[in-house]
This record gives sequence, C-alpha cells and structure tokens, in this order.
Amino acid sequence: MRARIYKSTGSWYVARAENGETYQARIKGVMKIEGITSTNPIAVGDEVEMEIEAVQEESAIISEIYDRKNYVARVSPHNKHQHHIIASNLDQSLLFVTLKDPKTSQGFMDRFLISCEAFHVPAIIVFNKADLYKKKELEKFERLKEIYEAVGYTVLLCSVAEEKGLEEVKALLHNKVSLLSGHSGVGKSTFINALFPEFNLRTQEVSGWSGKGMHTTTFAEMFDLPEGGHIIDTPGIRELGLVDISKEELAHYFPEMRERMNDCQFNNCMHIEEPNCAIKQAVIDGEISEERYISYRTILDTMESEW
Ligand code: GDP
Ligand code: ZN
Repeated sequence: MRARIYKSTGSWYVARAENGETYQARIKGVMKIEGITSTNPIAVGDEVEMEIEAVQEESAIISEIYDRKNYVARVSPHNKHQHHIIASNLDQSLLFVTLKDPKTSQGFMDRFLISCEAFHVPAIIVFNKADLYKKKELEKFERLKEIYEAVGYTVLLCSVAEEKGLEEVKALLHNKVSLLSGHSGVGKSTFINALFPEFNLRTQEVSGWSGKGMHTTTFAEMFDLPEGGHIIDTPGIRELGLVDISKEELAHYFPEMRERMNDCQFNNCMHIEEPNCAIKQAVIDGEISEERYISYRTILDTMESEW
C-alpha cells in the first residue's frame, strides 16, 4: 500500500495510507537509499510502500521508498559530513520574516534562499507583522520587495494580528506541499492558527502513541490543509544550512549572478578582485543589488573561515 510520511521520530513514522488511514510505520532491517548519505533514511513528505502489519494496532512496515522529487537537508548535528533530511517532495518553501520584533537579518534571508536554490525548491518570502511597520520599515520593505522580486522570488506582506494579506498567502498554499520556515518569534504558528482555526497546530498531537524513542531535538511535521494541500512545519529548525556548497559554487545559487557569470573573463572568477568581472560590473550598473552582492561576499568569508 502506498503511503505518505507525515512525521518522523527517528525510530518510527506516522504514515497516511492511500485509504486515508494513519499508521505507525517502521522500517525492517537496513534500508539503503542510493546517492544520499543521510542520518535518517526516511523523511517527512516521503512517498513509501508499506505493508499493514496489524490492523488493530494500526502498525505497518515500510518496504520501499519512492524516488524523491527534491528534499531539503541540514548538516547532521552529530556528524558534519552527514545530512539530516528535513523534508521531501516539496512544491515550495515559505520563509517567514519580520522587519520588527524581531527583525530578520538580510543575511539570514539570503542564506535561506541559497539553500532553496541548491535544493531546487522555489522560495516565497512572507513579511509578517506589517501592523508594526512605521515609515522606516515600510520603506525597507519596498526596497527588499524590489530586490527579491527582481531576482525572481515572490514577496508578500501580511499582518496576522490585523488579518491583512492572509488570503494571498493562503491562495499560494492551495493544493501545494509547502515547507514553512522562519526564526522563532516571527509569527509562524500564529499565522497557521489564524488561517486554519480548525486545527490547533501546537496541540495537534498524535494521541495514544507513546513518545518512546523520540528525540528531544525538533523535527518536521506535515499537516493537511482543509481546502487541499499540505504544509510542513519545522519547529526549531532555524536554518537549512549550506549543505555541500563549495565557495566556487556559491555564486550559482544567486540567480542574478548565475545568469551573468558566463560573461566574466575568467571561468573560475570568484567575482572579487578579478578584472572584467561581469558580476561586479552589474553591481556598478545597478543591475545586481549591492545588498545581495555584500551577502555573497559575507557568506563567502564565513565559508573561508569554516573550512
Ligand atoms: P513563531 O515562533 O514564529 O511560531 O511565532 P509565534 O506565532 O509564536 O508569534 C510570536 C509573537 O508574535 C506572538 O506574541 C504573536 O502574538 C506575535 N505576532 C504574530 N503575528 C503578529 C503580527 O502580525 N503582528 C504583531 N504585532 N504581532 C504578531
Ligand atoms: Zn566574475
């Protein structure tokens, strides 16, 4: 029976079968998935094949995992050479940010967007707490909207507190599998509860099952949207991380740099001090925003010191 993974505890999974029933599923033996070295063989969003073990206990054994369309991962906290897959088979990723209480840094947004590029997941940026924005923040928002839309990202403004702009966000979620991310405090859970009062996210627990073997670390969980589609919440997961990205590759994950770098004189151009660099020229010409270029340089520097 085909099923989809809604939650992973590391040792067992919540799987929703095609028939709509929910099962507590496990893997038997060792399951190898080619091409990926991850600490977790199965992730939220995975499509699997499973055999019902006991109808009464609603338990099942996973025998196979279907090919993933994509996935997002972070470096395993226990072994930096391994990935921990956060979620898979995503249509898009929504990054919740704010310009006030707490202000999200642009560097953080750019790191997140780079991860989305690297994992082939389209990204949408949702600015929340619009009700708190004064002239300064509204101007900042307009500037950022201009920058990120020019690069190709969807940018939205909303206020969960005043229920403004929520329909637009909701429309984007319809019939899609969306990963929701953001620093804590940006209003992600308030947003979800406001949009879908039918379920109370933080209290929607899988009842009747023991939390035995559950990691104290947080993990992703998928929820059905009443009007079609799914969201995957990632409580506590602050960053996707720049898994396996080398310094030389970094510019590829800035779409506005990627499309121009073939015009650099040197094909190994790092877009720093090299002559006839198309990227630096585009910054001078105002075609690439200075803020994004600064982010590129800053992230490059942190990579230098990390390696
Ligand atoms: P999370 O950590 O991203 O899930 O953030 P929460 O949903 O817990 O929200 C953090 C705080 O921000 C709470 O006190 C919310 O009431 C508040 N908050 C959420 N959305 C808004 C908003 O649009 N405007 C204002 N002023 N406060 C908000
Ligand atoms: Zn260059």
